[in-house]
Amino acid sequence: MPRTRTRNDAARAAQDAQRWASVVAKDKTADGQFYTAVATTGIYCRPSCAARRPKRENVTFYDTCAEAEAAGYRPCKRCKPNELVPGAQHAAKVAEACRLIMEAEVVPKLDDLARAVGLSPFHFHRLFKSIVGVTPKAYATATRQQRVREKLGRSTSVTEAIYDAGYNSNGRFYATATDILGMTPTDYRGGGANAEIKFAVAQCSLGAILVAASGEGVCAIFLGDDPNELVHEVQDLFPNASLIGGDREFEKLVAHVVGFVETPHAEWDLPLDVRGTAFQHRVWQALRAIPPGETVSYAELARRMGAPKAVRAVAGACAANHVAVAIPCHRVVRTDGNLSGYRWGVERKRTLIEREKIK
Ligand SMILES: [Zn+2]
Repeated sequence: MPRTRTRNDAARAAQDAQRWASVVAKDKTADGQFYTAVATTGIYCRPSCAARRPKRENVTFYDTCAEAEAAGYRPCKRCKPNELVPGAQHAAKVAEACRLIMEAEVVPKLDDLARAVGLSPFHFHRLFKSIVGVTPKAYATATRQQRVREKLGRSTSVTEAIYDAGYNSNGRFYATATDILGMTPTDYRGGGANAEIKFAVAQCSLGAILVAASGEGVCAIFLGDDPNELVHEVQDLFPNASLIGGDREFEKLVAHVVGFVETPHAEWDLPLDVRGTAFQHRVWQALRAIPPGETVSYAELARRMGAPKAVRAVAGACAANHVAVAIPCHRVVRTDGNLSGYRWGVERKRTLIEREKIK
């Protein structure tokens, strides 16, 4: 098909002319896009190589290092074309890959992503992880989880939300849903539907205390001045659960929790049934690792979790804690040592911190 070949040849010639212009300009943004092989030296270079410019008639362009090497060329020792392209261009490639992952209907394959940004799968994987901090696959999974959480807030059907978020199999979603959401998707949307939660209000040295527990464990510990307000709070937290006033047996549990709150160095020894995102669970774990008597800043907590840039998300997760004292969010203060806020009153926070300082 001569006509087709002519058009391809014309396209190739136009591309080569553009590439040669990049070589003449020593254009760094062209690095990684193609390689310049020089017949007289048997060496191939990046377009921006600082070595003396070869004669145009000796130059052949290749899309990849592999192609240049297959044609018998060796990498230039000066511009090291077969090593990773440094700096900004890397970031641009990774940003492009992130965009592809976010926009894709189904999780793109590693090979496809690498090809799309012009890197070998091996280099791409290494580069992505070094810049983003997680593998492309983990990034894709996290993106989807975020979408599912956003969708579940509005969507009418759980199945619809799963498909909208790019999961192509219900079974796979449900297998990981408990980890992501802390409960099954139906419960998450239903605000605790079908759950039976017992609760009781008592008094402690910090004022009124409400303790609520599901069949799995303690799910709320609230502190306040007005017992009725605490009851409203627990109703707001579990709008679709059956809330049942605690019986005698439950009073023992409440007494146990009060004893824990009153004993600053006691170890929490009851099961917790706290529901949140995987990230919130990580924050809550990190909070429980802070020993009594110690306070840390949000930034320090984020650092300890290995997520130093997530300070605001960490603060958000602390604020989303529903079990006062058992998950000791009161041990987090501002960087300047200021107490900052506390959901159950800054005076209670001060009291708790001061009590714990006494050995
Ligand atoms: Zn070179």
